[in-house]
Amino acid sequence: MAIKKIAVGGISTECSTYSPLYQNESDFESLQGQDLLNLIGFPFDDYSIETYPIFFNRSVPGGPIKSQYFRQTKDKFISELESLGTLDGVLLIMHGAIFVDDLDDPEGEWIEAVRDVVGEDCIVSVSFDLHGQMTDKIIKNIDAFAAYRTAPHVDVEETYMRASKMLVDALTNNKRPTVVWSPIPVLVSGEMSSTFIEPCQSTYKSLELFDQRKGIIDTNLMVGYVWADTQRAAASTVVTCTNKKVGVEVCQIIAKLYWNSRHQLKFDMRSGNISAAINLLPKNFSIIADSGDNPTAGGVGDRADVLEEVLNKKIDHALFAGIASESAYNELKKGIEFNIGGNFGGGGPNIELIANNVYFKEQCAIVKVQNITIVISKRRRPFHYLSDFDNLNLNLQDYRFLVVKSGYLSPDLQGLSCPSFMALSNGAVNQDLKNLDNHQRKRPIFPFQEFNEFVPEVSDGSNLLS
Ligand SMILES: [Zn+2]
Repeated sequence: MAIKKIAVGGISTECSTYSPLYQNESDFESLQGQDLLNLIGFPFDDYSIETYPIFFNRSVPGGPIKSQYFRQTKDKFISELESLGTLDGVLLIMHGAIFVDDLDDPEGEWIEAVRDVVGEDCIVSVSFDLHGQMTDKIIKNIDAFAAYRTAPHVDVEETYMRASKMLVDALTNNKRPTVVWSPIPVLVSGEMSSTFIEPCQSTYKSLELFDQRKGIIDTNLMVGYVWADTQRAAASTVVTCTNKKVGVEVCQIIAKLYWNSRHQLKFDMRSGNISAAINLLPKNFSIIADSGDNPTAGGVGDRADVLEEVLNKKIDHALFAGIASESAYNELKKGIEFNIGGNFGGGGPNIELIANNVYFKEQCAIVKVQNITIVISKRRRPFHYLSDFDNLNLNLQDYRFLVVKSGYLSPDLQGLSCPSFMALSNGAVNQDLKNLDNHQRKRPIFPFQEFNEFVPEVSDGSNLLS
């Protein structure tokens, strides 16, 4: 078998247009070489396919990406791709929720530039997050597409496998797939569309059955990203197929399934304002998710709204993990007085505090104030894993409750099986969707507007097929 040659790489983040924190080079981690191939984990060698890793840049979600950085990074990717000469395939690892002030469709621009370099004969297979946005420009420049089917995401590796496998099959069988899609005028948060509860649990389960249909390779339901006020923001269904007619049918069915379930989309945990979260605290250990400031969805991560309420109400034995503040971290390196909250420009109270006690570990200051423990991280980051607490010598059993900057709980925290409450707090990823500024999103779109008519329109990116 002749050896085939593919390139691998991409860029991934989520950008809230409600966050003032622009993302730049220092926010991104760049995976390259063998590290990137290890992330993908697919045994391309077994299929006589040579891989050329370019880079995969990813960040903790935040605000928009600085235009200059995005353009430079895209140009660098494209020139490295060009230097590889003729390619049989490209595997792109993307997210789909990037926002750049002067670009309507950043991922579309990136993917179109890839197509321009590799030419029409090359197979382009793409992996996305299900909170990504689709456009005609993306669809018409790709040959295969796979997105996560779980939120919270526990199938990242499987998704890379699906996208890789479709690329390998296309190259080894010389049979080129096609991608068709249909936008769905629904746009909710990830917390309202968890795949671990209904209605999404059943809808996503049904994708596995649609995959089995003759002429279908891979089916996807994209929830989209609600905190970007953009034209392209919407849910969608995306189908990779060998038979366009069947692809169109399946696209319509999935689009209707999601549309018909829109009124059942709800939070997967008890929720209410911050006061309710605190008033309803049980005696036993529980978790409060400060959802409006969740950095993994694009929140700034330094808001002190919940902390202020807990201090005002003089509630003891709380653990806050964490609040991001390099300035507070630096103050604590010098003394016991520090300021927290509102320093990133994302709003919320700024509180002056005095530490009873402080120690430093893993780029975090662990501070005791009155009878509350606050983890102040130098950089914006989540605390999703139980090992995050172990690494800071924190034992959750020592506390009455934990406050995390999170929307739905991570699998590790969910595994604790304790009572939990989602505080619908203010911030760049506010869950009060109906009150978000809404200037650019298409109209009508549920739940921003209520309406009853929806007929899915399926396209291959160039032509309307239904
Ligand atoms: Zn996501």
